[in-house]
Amino acid sequence: MIDWNKIDTVLLDMDGTLLDLNFDNHFWKEFVPLKFAEKQGIAIVEAKQLLEPRFKSMEGRLEWYCLDYWSEALELNIAGLKAEIAGLIAVLPHVVEFLEKVHQSPRKVLLVTNAHKDSLGLKMEKTCLHRFFDDIISSHTLGFPKEHAEFWHLLQRLQPFEKHNTLLIDDSLAVLNSARQFGIEHLISVSRPDTQLPKKEIIDFPAIEDFRELMAGL
Ligand SMILES: [Mg+2]
Repeated sequence: MIDWNKIDTVLLDMDGTLLDLNFDNHFWKEFVPLKFAEKQGIAIVEAKQLLEPRFKSMEGRLEWYCLDYWSEALELNIAGLKAEIAGLIAVLPHVVEFLEKVHQSPRKVLLVTNAHKDSLGLKMEKTCLHRFFDDIISSHTLGFPKEHAEFWHLLQRLQPFEKHNTLLIDDSLAVLNSARQFGIEHLISVSRPDTQLPKKEIIDFPAIEDFRELMAGL
């Protein structure tokens, strides 16, 4: 799937790529509606109906990933709620083996995420994956989400890389499309970002079900 001889820089997404998206799905689809319903004194079904379009309307925007934004909009301590169910944060199968190998190789390895610093901090604390990266970049620092072309320009200025020998692995097709438009040559998607959901059919990009598929030749 990938010729590692051609890769000098590896860009890795966090949620749904290295970490099980089940945590985030459960958090936003079940736990936040529950807490919102409690706070507003309404039924959970009603809370879900109210929240779903609000979440939908913010997709792909930096605010969607901003815990402060949602804390204010929903009058809930979102970072605190995440910490409450932090036990559900889990690394996807074979990710650590892969990270150990790629970290030992001469390649530059960067975590590039749309996650907010509080969420990122909590997840690194729970998983200890930070040790594998040369740098960790949150789009909140750059001011644009990964779905936006400007993110890649700013990233390249911060951590120089060449488009032709850079690999991005990300479960978001919107992000992969934006990286493709910017010119990053090697793009791989993830077909099983949430272990509690069935495998996704991905046609626009080569996809892995788990990281064992990328270990050969590394
Ligand atoms: Mg992701």
